[in-house]
Amino acid sequence: MIAAGMDVARLSLSHATLADTLERLELIRSIAESEGAVVGVLADLPGPKVRTSPFPSDGVHLSEGTMVELAPADGADRSDEKRITVDLPSVLASIASGDRVALGDGAIELVVDHVDSGRALARVVASGWAQGRPGVILPPGRPAPDSPTEEDLRLLRALAAADVDAIAVSFVRSPTDIARARDALDGAGVMLVAKIETQEAVDSLDEVIAVADGVMVARGDLGIRCALEDVPHYQKRIIRAGVAYGRPVITATQMLESMVRAPEPTRAEVSDVANAVFDGTSSLMLSAETAIGHDPVNAVRTMARVAKRAEREFDYLTWGRNLGQQQTSEAQGAPVPVRITAAISAAAWRAANDAGVVAIIACTNSGDTARAISRFRPTTPVLAATPSPRTVRQLSMAWGITPILTGLHGTTDDIVWFAVQAAAGAGYVRAGELVAVLVGSPTDPQPATDTLRLVRVH
Ligand code: PEP
Repeated sequence: MIAAGMDVARLSLSHATLADTLERLELIRSIAESEGAVVGVLADLPGPKVRTSPFPSDGVHLSEGTMVELAPADGADRSDEKRITVDLPSVLASIASGDRVALGDGAIELVVDHVDSGRALARVVASGWAQGRPGVILPPGRPAPDSPTEEDLRLLRALAAADVDAIAVSFVRSPTDIARARDALDGAGVMLVAKIETQEAVDSLDEVIAVADGVMVARGDLGIRCALEDVPHYQKRIIRAGVAYGRPVITATQMLESMVRAPEPTRAEVSDVANAVFDGTSSLMLSAETAIGHDPVNAVRTMARVAKRAEREFDYLTWGRNLGQQQTSEAQGAPVPVRITAAISAAAWRAANDAGVVAIIACTNSGDTARAISRFRPTTPVLAATPSPRTVRQLSMAWGITPILTGLHGTTDDIVWFAVQAAAGAGYVRAGELVAVLVGSPTDPQPATDTLRLVRVH
């Protein structure tokens, strides 16, 4: 999958234990190293989602009209076409006869016939294949536990201690949810990705994105918790807001869903992937296609092919120009560091277009300066000079950044010199060429990208 174009591996803790996840993290790191590739690892917390016990790995078909029992999971329980067990027994206490219960991304639907002693008997009204541990979705208005859960916070601390690159927080509803995860990180430099999959998160989008380091359009659950027809419009809104804040945006779920079983995607899926690129997404995510699909490598290769083709059509100049104008109007009320970063990164984009610059070099510890310029989608290559191996991996989630691992020391002049030398040493720029160098002020109490230099390479 790395050779086919995978930049980031998502490890979902809804479907694996912490021990398995940490083992996979090590495996991915060692394979990436032996392939000479940079691969970020995004661990995805389960959140307060109720799931079934595992169905057999080759799946079970739940046929319309058949009756199934819904029962509490008991230790090593499994689910099948007659009995589906649920990992949070209290959920069964909140359902009543006549309730519609959906499984997975909502494709399978059951209607509860009657409930008796904490067990329910339900009829399948929309049939489908159940595989893995699909989510159990109750009718709207049922009480939802807070996210992150205590279990999420325990997992998050262990993942941070194992030096994972990013952690996705599921079912975020407010900025406070991200703040609780951040507190639990206790200063570790792991990126926190807010999964937007609730109406509450959509309603407080700017506030959530402002405190997160990245954002995911989690279309599966979003399409269950909001009106399905709102999903494409929310996708555009989430991507626009993420880009405005300089956060990587991941567009996720059912992108090439038919490839779980088929060797080729549908034409609609191909269009969906290309349109996510046109919306300005930084990353495209595969889920079931690679987790349980019959040919994960083919799914990655196909997605990479479609994305590359879409990028050839992308109108980069209009995108950068519009973003510059949008920033100028939005900057009025923004905090000073945000306005400084907006102004200097816009100037770098302008300089790259007007002054014949061959590369934009962002000097960065956290990666923020590189992400600030990458949101303009410059046609000039963006290089990120950073002393942090973790930042190198974290930048794999952003759009179009080539990281260079290098020491950056001393004054701003020294840092610019180190960065240009590193870019030349790695063969990205040559003597006599003009480069734009961006430098941030990370030690400032209010960090901003505040310096732009146009430098001729010696
Ligand atoms: C989603 O719901 O779209 C999503 C990405 O979440 P998960 O795959 O973890 O259920």
